[in-house]
Amino acid sequence: MKIEMEKLIAHLKAQGFIFQGSEIYGGLANSWDYGPLGAEIKAKLKKLWWGFFVKKNPHNLGLDSSIILNSKVWEASGHLRNFNDPLIDCKECKSRWRADKLIEEKFPELNVGGWTNQQLEEFITAKKILCPKCQKQSFTNIRQFALMFKTNQGVVEDEGSVVYLRPETAQGIFAQYKNCQRAMRKKLPFGIGQIGKSFRNEITPGNFIFRTREFEQMELEFFFAPSDNFDWFEYWLNQVQTFLKDVLKIHPNNFLVREHNKEELAHYAKRTVDIEFKYPFGTGELWGIAHRGDFDLSQHQKFSAQDLTYLDPNTNERYLPYVIEPSVGVERLMLAIFCQAYTEEAVENGERVVMKLPNNLVPYQVAVFPLQKQQNAAAEQLYEELLVDFDAVLDVTGNIGKRYRRQDAIGTPLCVTIDFDTETEKTVTVRDRDTMKQVKVALSELKNYLTTKL
Ligand code: ATP
Repeated sequence: MKIEMEKLIAHLKAQGFIFQGSEIYGGLANSWDYGPLGAEIKAKLKKLWWGFFVKKNPHNLGLDSSIILNSKVWEASGHLRNFNDPLIDCKECKSRWRADKLIEEKFPELNVGGWTNQQLEEFITAKKILCPKCQKQSFTNIRQFALMFKTNQGVVEDEGSVVYLRPETAQGIFAQYKNCQRAMRKKLPFGIGQIGKSFRNEITPGNFIFRTREFEQMELEFFFAPSDNFDWFEYWLNQVQTFLKDVLKIHPNNFLVREHNKEELAHYAKRTVDIEFKYPFGTGELWGIAHRGDFDLSQHQKFSAQDLTYLDPNTNERYLPYVIEPSVGVERLMLAIFCQAYTEEAVENGERVVMKLPNNLVPYQVAVFPLQKQQNAAAEQLYEELLVDFDAVLDVTGNIGKRYRRQDAIGTPLCVTIDFDTETEKTVTVRDRDTMKQVKVALSELKNYLTTKL
């Protein structure tokens, strides 16, 4: 089903998933806050990633490094020199655009990642690409726009106090690679995973939470010996797809795997593959998997003058490990999950909106209702009992039909109703979100029943 972004955004706001940032002050462009239900899903998503890529993977460790690092890190990584986007201004209406994205929007089959500014400018002129705002073709030359947020640390604002908000979490991992390896006495191959905020002063943020200036990343840097014959790239590419399909239940028809061609590859990358999701506004990068060789560690070794080599206990050789990096944005992944889950269905008396979220991501696993006011106390007691083992919610307002709709709209898989039979028969009615079927379940069996269903 093709969904409309406007409808999805309105739904997520009304139900308490995502609000516009600073809304009472008229908002702050392209900033979004996660409401009670969105925050719950975000926390669950991060926990699932951490479980799969860090805790349950026999090779990997976790890390939580700082957002503000020594600026030398960004000098070494190349971000200070190269982390720019091609900015182009419309002379007529003064709007600003990313030149590469202007082209890719008109020619989605093209990938202009490796093009020079001159190539981009010539293409825009030759193909008569217009300003999306005023429909004129009157552009300035392209300039490089630095994407890192710059600020000062401490009381003196001079060149020496300049620091940056990290544009990726990866460099914090490289900077602590040696400490992690030594402290944990790790042998290659091993990986370090990290989840945290990143900041990019994007020229054209947009498409809701797809591209924002403040976002969270979940990144893994996997280190291995250059002589290792095992294909770690394929391994991580498969792991990412397994996580998407089996853990998050993303349907394989909803994403595609795109190999970067030679022109597009960053100069240090040996291979890059993007997993792209089919968002309602077009196909876009969800997860990048890159073979970074020993680029980052060798740069940090050079700039820090520290020995970052690994002494191989088997061969007694010293070398810098190679790195595979699977990197994903939390919000982009959430957007993919929301787009897949949002469903409008015709039902007997009208239409319902159902968030068909997987059970491991729902804000609430089970809702408890009293059928009528007389059953309020029993419902409250059952709710408190269920809270011990489940993410439960109690709803006592409105008629039962409305309560079902409310739970459908937020994705609650099961609703338990205390009804007339509960007192005499010791049973409750359990209703399934997707099939809308209802079954009677003995109170004594309820916890088991819910556990098998969830
Ligand atoms: P794009 O081409 O879309 O700008 P990128 O190639 O610069 O993305 P990476 O640097 O590879 O992205 O970042 C890794 C992941 O972080 C991306 O796959 C994406 O999921 C996420 N990400 C990057 N930039 C943003 C952003 N501005 N807002 C939200 N998520 C982002």
